[in-house]
Amino acid sequence: MSTPLKFLIVPVTPFQQNCSIACCTSSNRSAIIDPGGDIERIRQAISESGSEPEKIILTHGHIDHAGAAAELAEELGLPIEGPHEADKFLLDDLVSHGGQLGIPARPVAPDRWVDEGGEVTIGDCSFSVMHIPGHTPGHVVYLFSSGDILIGGDVLFAGSVGRTDFPYGDHDALISGIREKLMPLSDDTIVLTGHGQATTIGRERQANPFLKG
Ligand SMILES: [Zn+2]
Ligand SMILES: [Zn+2]
Repeated sequence: MSTPLKFLIVPVTPFQQNCSIACCTSSNRSAIIDPGGDIERIRQAISESGSEPEKIILTHGHIDHAGAAAELAEELGLPIEGPHEADKFLLDDLVSHGGQLGIPARPVAPDRWVDEGGEVTIGDCSFSVMHIPGHTPGHVVYLFSSGDILIGGDVLFAGSVGRTDFPYGDHDALISGIREKLMPLSDDTIVLTGHGQATTIGRERQANPFLKG
């Protein structure tokens, strides 16, 4: 049996955010996850994947994840799904935030907000939605139905967790969300992170200094 899902990772923006093209191998349909910028590189990855993109999926409203979503959605005629509506204020404000950082962006109005317990599909593959606020109020992660892959955005990193030094950040909420929702997952669950190398739940349970004690 072949893998039901394939990911092509494309680091985008000065923040080296891991945008990915997630392809359902049985249907050859794909989603573009967190297109923060560098549209040309994303276009190239889509064509390399040979898949048919059907939607854009967002984990949260930060510019390095969502900055190119509106342009790409318009250009390819794709709907945008996610994040949780609590990130609307960030998606509305992408232009001025991008201006401060020198990153071109457009405001994003998702076609569908998602929430805890919801479902998102890519071709024949389905993912359950977990709402884990703290890095941003509306941050969500997506767990593949087999339980072995988590699209994690900026919640949990290899040896670290998402920043919470924003006016709206909440470190305690982030840590308790990770403990309650992610730590019960299997050791082998691969976490595709928004920045840096992918990791596994087992490795972070063992060694992540933010989850000790
Ligand atoms: Zn972020
Ligand atoms: Zn990020």
